[in-house]
Amino acid sequence: MDLATAASWWDLHNERYLSQLREFLSFQSISTDPAFKPACGQCAKWVCSHLESIGFQSELKQTETLPVVFARYRVSSTAPTVVVYGHYDVQPPGDLSDWTTPPFEPHVRDGRIYARGAVDNKGQLFFVIKALENLIAHKALTCNITLVVEGEEESGSGGLSAKLPEWKNELAGDVLLVCDTGMPSGKPTIMVGLRGIAGLTFELHGPARELHSGYHGNLAKNPALHLAKILAAMTNADGSVAVPGFYDGIAPIDDSLRALINSQPFDPIAYEQETGCPPTGGEATYPIAERVGLRPSIDIHGILSGYAGPGIKTIVPPWARATLSIRLVLGQSSQGILDSLEDFMRERTPTGMRLKIIERDFGGPALLVSP
Ligand SMILES: [Zn+2]
Repeated sequence: MDLATAASWWDLHNERYLSQLREFLSFQSISTDPAFKPACGQCAKWVCSHLESIGFQSELKQTETLPVVFARYRVSSTAPTVVVYGHYDVQPPGDLSDWTTPPFEPHVRDGRIYARGAVDNKGQLFFVIKALENLIAHKALTCNITLVVEGEEESGSGGLSAKLPEWKNELAGDVLLVCDTGMPSGKPTIMVGLRGIAGLTFELHGPARELHSGYHGNLAKNPALHLAKILAAMTNADGSVAVPGFYDGIAPIDDSLRALINSQPFDPIAYEQETGCPPTGGEATYPIAERVGLRPSIDIHGILSGYAGPGIKTIVPPWARATLSIRLVLGQSSQGILDSLEDFMRERTPTGMRLKIIERDFGGPALLVSP
């Protein structure tokens, strides 16, 4: 099918598509919160029957947790099969007062649709489905399609992962298409790699209970202060990570891939306008594209300790907590890195304090396919 046919089809059906997308975005399919389990189920059903209505053979497959939508369209037994992955669940909307319009009531402003999940992953998934609908309607589809749409991507993919061995044959294909990424610099983009992730939550414990700083300041060691020292020690002045072993095992990158990555457009001013901060974090010795595309990073997601409400509560807090994650690149082992991080923290835990590992999350490794 040529581009003009595709575009005119889109124009013709634009209104219908928009109202369908609004319906899809209205489900409060928040997988991480059990209170929204019924909404997740309804959303899965909607995806399933929507795919049925455009010609797919689709079914809801149950898992231990939330259902997975399976849909197939076969053009012939000899055509290659493309497996398309997507997810119908969304992140929690956070503080509702931060939203200009309610997260589950989609609104269009300046040509953009605003709702929770609109760009992760309901929007992308919907566009892929509409592209398939277009191809099917024009009898222009030349490959078999298997669509698998899970409901727990935002909370660890437990249900789907557990069923993968059992569903192995049904999920077989020649190509896997995952449209669950963004458009850097606002341009349609084919992602050939993704960094992996590993996470660590830990606490420093000091006094048995809150102590009054008037009596105990200068006597009791302060867990919040020492947590801050440990966290600050994780990076060097040039932005590199100071944890021994952190960069061990990183796979060499060939020059053509490095050149390809560095040739991607990146507008630091647009970045700053969008995020409110300049793109100056991380390893100063690497160009921006390599920092985000080829280098591992470490981030603190949250720090919790003591009292930070109005006024002053004069305490030495009994504990302090931090949650971290590491973005991994090819060749790095999450197990090894979490071990190194733990050693690093243990060595810096002062006498009289206790390090408590709350959670080690092995996440997933990095992925790179040939461009
Ligand atoms: Zn996603």
